[in-house]
Amino acid sequence: MAVATTTKVAPTTSRAMMPPVATVFRSPDGDLHHARCASRMDFMGGRAGLELDFYCLTCCEHVTVTPYVLSRLPETATFTRARAR
Ligand SMILES: [Zn+2]
Repeated sequence: MAVATTTKVAPTTSRAMMPPVATVFRSPDGDLHHARCASRMDFMGGRAGLELDFYCLTCCEHVTVTPYVLSRLPETATFTRARAR
C-alpha cells in the first residue's frame, strides 16, 4: 500500500521573495516608463487611493499599478529600448 506524504512549505511572505516588477520601471530622472516599449508613461490619476493609472502613448495601453508596486521599483534602471523587446 502506497502512502502519500506531503511537506509543508511556508507561504511566501517575505518582500525579498517577491518577483521583480515587469510592467513598468523608473528612469534615472524619476519618470515611470513602460517596460514593453521603454516610453515614458503619463499619469492619468488615482482611484480610491488604491490604484494609480498610467497611459503609454506609444502602445496606447493603460497600466494600473498600486502604490506598493511603485515603492518596490528600484531607484534607477539600466533599461534600454533594445532590451525591452
Ligand atoms: Zn508602451
